[in-house]
Amino acid sequence: MGPIILDGKSLAKGMEPPLAERAARIRERRGRAPGLATVMVGDNPASAMYVRMKGNACRRVGVEPVRIDMPEGSTTAEVIGAVERLNADPGVSGILLQHPLPRHVDEMACFNAISVAKDVDGVCVSSFGMAAMGMEGHRSATSLSIVSILRHYGIPIEGREAVVVGRSPILGKPVSMLLLNENATVTICHSRTVGLPDVVRRADIVVGALGRPRFIKADWVKEGAVLVDAGYNEGNVGDIDLENAAAKSSAYTPVPGGVGPMTIMQLISQTVRAAEMVLGIG
Ligand code: NAP
Repeated sequence: MGPIILDGKSLAKGMEPPLAERAARIRERRGRAPGLATVMVGDNPASAMYVRMKGNACRRVGVEPVRIDMPEGSTTAEVIGAVERLNADPGVSGILLQHPLPRHVDEMACFNAISVAKDVDGVCVSSFGMAAMGMEGHRSATSLSIVSILRHYGIPIEGREAVVVGRSPILGKPVSMLLLNENATVTICHSRTVGLPDVVRRADIVVGALGRPRFIKADWVKEGAVLVDAGYNEGNVGDIDLENAAAKSSAYTPVPGGVGPMTIMQLISQTVRAAEMVLGIG
C-alpha cells in the first residue's frame, strides 16, 4: 500500500458549508458579515496572490474581505496606525498582516499591535504565549492547519518524534508548541543546526517549514515517516523533495493542495469564531 495523501484541499472544501452557515447566522444577528481585514505592505507578487486567494475563500463562505494596501515605503508607525484603526472598527472581526513585511518595518511590533481578540492568524506574542500554554485563543493559522490535518487523518502524534525544520515566529515556533501540546517529542531545527540530515532521520513526523525548495532530501527521511510540507516556493514546490521522499513515507501533504488551503480555511474559521465571541454565540 502506498502512502496516504493528506489532502488538505478536500478538508478545506469540507469546512466551507458549516462556516458559511455560521457566517450567515452572524450576518443575521448583527446586520453585517464578519470582516477579515488583510493589510499588505508593498507589492510582493506572491503575497498579492495569497491575499487574492484568501479574499476569494472569504467570499465563498460569506465573510467580507477588507483589503488595506500600503506602499512599500510605509513606516512601522504607519503600519501600526493602520492596524489600530482596524482594531477599533467593529465591522472587522479578524486582522491579517501579510508576512513578510518590507525589511525596514519592525514586523514583530506590527504583529503585536493587533488586538488579541482579532489576531486570527495568531501572530502576536500574547497569542503565541496562549498557544504555548494550551490556553484558549487564536492559533497560528498554518500551525493549526498542520495539526488539524494530522488529527483528521488519525495520524498519531503522542509520543512520536517530531522534527520541525524552521523556527520562524509565524510557523516553526508555533507549530512546535502545538505538536508539543499534542505530546510529541519535538526537535526544532534552524540554519545553525549541526548534522540536520541525521536529526531529520530520527523523525516520525517531519515538518518542512524553512522556505527552501526541495531542501529536505529523500535519504534524510526514515522509512514510514509522516511528511508535512508547509513550504511554498517558486515553481509550486515545497521544502521537502516529495517527488523522491513521498514513496518512503507513510503519509504526506502534497504541494500544492496540502497545508496551504487548510491554512486559509483556519484563518477564516478563526475570524468567524472571533465574530461569534463578540456576539456571545456559538
Ligand atoms: P522564514 O521566516 O524565512 O523562516 C525560515 C526558517 O528556516 C528560519 O527559522 C531559518 O533558520 C530556517 N532555515 C533557513 N535555512 C535553513 C537551513 N539551510 N537549514 C535549516 N533551517 C533553515 O520563513 P517562514 O515565513 O517560516 O516560511 C517558511 C516556508 O513556509 C516558506 O516556504 C513559506 O512560503 C511557507 N509558508 C507557508 C504557509 C502556508 O500556509 N502554507 C504559511 C506561512 C509560510 P534561522 O532562524 O536560523 O534563520
